[in-house]
Amino acid sequence: KEHSGKESNISKIKVVVRKRPLNKKEISRREDDVVTVNDSTRLTVHEPKLKVDLTAYVEKHEFCFDSVLSEDVTNDEVYRITVEPVISAIFQQTKATCFAYGQTGSGKTFTMQPLPLRASEDMLRLLHQPVYRNQRFKMWLSYFEIYGGKLYDLLSDRRKLCMREDGRQQVCIVGLQEFEVSDTRIVREYIEKGNAARSTGSTGANEESSRSHAILQLVIKKHVEANGSKRHKEVNEAKNSKVIGKISFIDLAGSERGADTTDNDRQTRIEGAEINKSLLALKECIRALDNDQIHIPFRGSKLTEVLRDSFVGNSRTVMISCISPNAGSCEHTLNTLRYADRVK
Ligand code: ADP
Ligand code: MG
Repeated sequence: KEHSGKESNISKIKVVVRKRPLNKKEISRREDDVVTVNDSTRLTVHEPKLKVDLTAYVEKHEFCFDSVLSEDVTNDEVYRITVEPVISAIFQQTKATCFAYGQTGSGKTFTMQPLPLRASEDMLRLLHQPVYRNQRFKMWLSYFEIYGGKLYDLLSDRRKLCMREDGRQQVCIVGLQEFEVSDTRIVREYIEKGNAARSTGSTGANEESSRSHAILQLVIKKHVEANGSKRHKEVNEAKNSKVIGKISFIDLAGSERGADTTDNDRQTRIEGAEINKSLLALKECIRALDNDQIHIPFRGSKLTEVLRDSFVGNSRTVMISCISPNAGSCEHTLNTLRYADRVK
């Protein structure tokens, strides 16, 4: 894909791939690292294969993305490459979305966790500038989860939420709590509270959370005077403010979960089908965005419906595709890279 340096042609979609290092278990099993980062935009996967006569050979697959990050790239650098470039646009009517995509264990949560806090630091710094302070801009945070096609508020005891479309075709998540955040210490508290409320089930954190999409939003609103009762001050303030822009951080369900559609367990099959549907719909929406299509197929899934307002108007999308380096993950890694490739 050609990229022009012209400001008017700034790409709305950025696709970044991040490779994690081999972990202790993979090293102890003497697994090969089959992913080579060639330079800042290209990588090669060396897929181990067998011929019919069972002789081993390697099939090479080369990919090119906006940015390819090797295993020694820090979370700080990830922030600088992915989120930092879109921060100022959020104050200029832009809706930004940052996704982490990849199989369970590939580093999505590791990559995603620090980003909202770093972003909030930069956004608060901007908020304190006279130009925005005078306009009474404020920042609000919400954190919810989509699990089995249903929405749960992670900041109010997993209260079940529903979605409504208003007359102006705006989606609204009824009852979603938004909290005003004026310093990073409070942001950190909400993030930790929400993380603790994520689906963990009985089988352990990664297993269950891998079936849900977690969505953290930082919204910049212009404050207008509210006249509600003191107790509901925050809620009313959120409603009586005008959205200027926002950024959504989305830790997607494990991409391999979309294949759980033939599992013996009925519930797992249903969840797998929903995840499959949402990841396919997401890809279609991002492609439509990139082609400046008028019709965005957001109705394909709960995930894309929720993100509807981020897909219209001024939008910026960053897809971070996380990949595992070990030979045993090769098939999933290739699936992730092909998905990322098709987004552009
Ligand atoms: P996912 O959310 O995709 O299931 P995690 O983010 O939980 O994966 O990562 C799986 C494990 O790998 C975690 O223990 C995490 O700390 C580790 N890990 C992931 N990415 C990196 C990285 N870039 N550097 C070091 N450790 C990582
Ligand atoms: Mg995770």
